[in-house]
Amino acid sequence: MNRRQRDVLRDAAPLHECRDCHLPIRFVRLDTGSALPVNPLTNPKGNVAARISGGRLVGFVISRDHRPGPLDSLRFMPHHATCEAKARSTSSSTTPPAAADEPLF
Ligand SMILES: [Zn+2]
Repeated sequence: MNRRQRDVLRDAAPLHECRDCHLPIRFVRLDTGSALPVNPLTNPKGNVAARISGGRLVGFVISRDHRPGPLDSLRFMPHHATCEAKARSTSSSTTPPAAADEPLF
């Protein structure tokens, strides 16, 4: 991803913060109208194909019936695939929470 692409991407899909792990995320607008949180950097292994259209980042989850065309050149990893907050929902032994809002007792 070069600098120009990054600038375009920043305008089309500004960074947000994951409510669970507080890492930066972007939203890809899906065909269905909902917004899918993805990791901010493009990832060739990601299964979300996207493009900038009308100044927005639009895309879809790649499937057997829905394969990316030549214009869907951006690939993203869905954030839920890597979100640490979700992965460690049953155990917090590795990383202590940065801020504990809930009382322990
Ligand atoms: Zn997260």
